[in-house]
Amino acid sequence: MKQYLKKVAADAEIPLTDLMLEKFQLFYELLIETNKSLNLTAITEMKDVVLKHFIDSISLSKFYDLSGCYVIDVGTGAGFPGIPLAIFYQDAEFVLMDSLNKRLQFINQITEKCNLSNITTIHGRAEDIAHDSVYREKFDYCVSRAVASLPTLLELCTPFVKVGGKFISYKSELLQEELEQSKNALKILQCVLEKKQDYSIPNTNYYRVFASFEKKKELSKKYPRQAGKPKRNPL
Ligand code: SAM
Repeated sequence: MKQYLKKVAADAEIPLTDLMLEKFQLFYELLIETNKSLNLTAITEMKDVVLKHFIDSISLSKFYDLSGCYVIDVGTGAGFPGIPLAIFYQDAEFVLMDSLNKRLQFINQITEKCNLSNITTIHGRAEDIAHDSVYREKFDYCVSRAVASLPTLLELCTPFVKVGGKFISYKSELLQEELEQSKNALKILQCVLEKKQDYSIPNTNYYRVFASFEKKKELSKKYPRQAGKPKRNPL
């Protein structure tokens, strides 16, 4: 795994140190082992894990610099993109949040094994945790991958972002359509689209688009609405 990751990262011009590669190797081994008893990921083939989980997560670093920042990953699941980003940015602080505690227990094992003291986990729904003053409008960046469509996701994620901070969404070809549906949500949530950034991993047909949103003003305490509503009835 390590050798393949090293090669793909070098081709993608993403600089990984030997220590980072060691941490990715440990993460990979524990992910595959734990996945036998716990549903963590449908992606298990070694090259797919490298491309679709590891490189995909850290390809964000080609367009944004999270160095020294305070970052939350909403709906992190088995730790994507949060764990790879925390391995890559040792000097940034990460909060990994999910509503499924079993996945967070797995992440806690990884943080211990990989010595990732820059990760903390929090169990709960974004709709509830975003009203806790410890987390509300505190983060430089919020990131999220494969959690919800954009209008819903904006309501779940932007309450964590401080004024002037950014929410970066890992999206697919459907982005344009989702942006069309997000006009009202962006207005209510005091955010504007900052940029859209396409990316393909070299020598693959693997495509990703990042959409980032800047928080312009403090948000009304009404948002996010109660658990379930952002998905059932998007803004
Ligand atoms: N981000 C990971 C990835 O890309 O592999 C996991 C994606 S998984 C499809 C979606 C995750 O979001 C699940 O682990 C689920 O428990 C979590 N989730 C969904 N809605 C949530 C909410 N409202 N608050 C917190 N977590 C949520």
